[in-house]
Amino acid sequence: MDDEDLRPDWFKTGARHVWRPYAQMQTAPAPLPVVRTEGARLHLADGRVLIDGVASWWTACHGYNHPQIITAMHRQLDAMPHVMLGGLAHEQAYRLAARLAALLPGELNHVFFAESGSVAVEIAMKMAVQFHLNRGAQGRTKFVAFRGGYHGDTFAAMSVCDPEEGMHALFAGALAPQHIVELPRDAASEAALDLLLARHEDIAGIVVEPLVQGAGGMLFHDGDTLRRLRRLADKHGVLLIFDEIFTGFGRTGTLFAMQQADVVPDIVTLSKALTGGAAPLSAAVASTRVFDAFLGDDPMRALMHGPTYMGHALGCAAANASLDLFERGDWTDAVSRIAAQLTEELAPCRGFSRVAQVRTKGAIGVVELDAPADVGALTARFVERGVWIRPFGRIVYLTPAFVISPSELTQLTSAIAAVLAD
Ligand code: PLP
Repeated sequence: MDDEDLRPDWFKTGARHVWRPYAQMQTAPAPLPVVRTEGARLHLADGRVLIDGVASWWTACHGYNHPQIITAMHRQLDAMPHVMLGGLAHEQAYRLAARLAALLPGELNHVFFAESGSVAVEIAMKMAVQFHLNRGAQGRTKFVAFRGGYHGDTFAAMSVCDPEEGMHALFAGALAPQHIVELPRDAASEAALDLLLARHEDIAGIVVEPLVQGAGGMLFHDGDTLRRLRRLADKHGVLLIFDEIFTGFGRTGTLFAMQQADVVPDIVTLSKALTGGAAPLSAAVASTRVFDAFLGDDPMRALMHGPTYMGHALGCAAANASLDLFERGDWTDAVSRIAAQLTEELAPCRGFSRVAQVRTKGAIGVVELDAPADVGALTARFVERGVWIRPFGRIVYLTPAFVISPSELTQLTSAIAAVLAD
């Protein structure tokens, strides 16, 4: 896939020491050394430039190296890279929390920061369990989650992922047992979930990615499904947790996916594009009702959690700059344009023999194959065509930066069509 002689020394020295994500280290093809990024492009050490269809796991929504984000981070770095939030405060985290509370619908007003998506999911689950304990309800420690869902790779997060489709089947015995069911897409499945919630008094909350189940298969559902979940959560007194780590910050066409369904959860998790892809940061944002259940004279009612780097000042500076860009508003037109182009340009893939389905939503384009692909081989074929597209399982997908130009996007869609046509 690349010329070994052109690999930089740092790569040759470090390659056997870096344990890479989701990789069989004995057989996985070598990764591509990247030396520079800009907009929707990756510059490789050997001089090649790839159009990026993934935006680094859909984080770099405004494109790489956005000058406003970079300037804000430089400014913050000059003042201080970070101080701990235990007993200290800094402007970027406090401004960001107030801005997120203002942007999120309903009473989602209380922002607990962390550094990664999985940890935000852990915190949301911990909040839900303790919410019930603080209100005197013992034994509500389990969750309802859904087939096709993905919420991260840490233990509690793994326990609410799809147990079969996901990558975590090996750990079945080590994970807390949860109620993993079909999404209530219709009245019948709503009735089944209603019954499950009525029969089990051990449920603390329902965890779902609103509108798009991302890394579990890029599966879409509608607002009615989310309204059913809200109704059932209210009826049975359990919390509704939306994981917007994939969908948040414009990816589905609205700032948050929940806005399309007009449903407000009790807790929402955010990460990924929160900082425009420039630094790790996440948050679990709770409603005032949830937050209030932690108040009182008893220190044991408090949320005993505090990741070392929570609310990292550099990350918060990047996030505030990213929100400035969202407030400017050009992204909505960009996402509509990308959506229309993805729909039009991926449509021909429907005719290919190995393609089961083509679907798009916002700036997400998905070509689902009829069987799992040889991901390494497909990725290499894409790189030969000058694009960075990294399929998983049966899914070939695009989640480009919103600043991608129409011709760059065409390069991505035509590479998919050309490679899959073979
Ligand atoms: N939740 C969702 C919806 C995600 O898409 C992901 C990552 O893909 C996570 C949680 C986990 O985030 P992280 O990889 O930052 O731990």
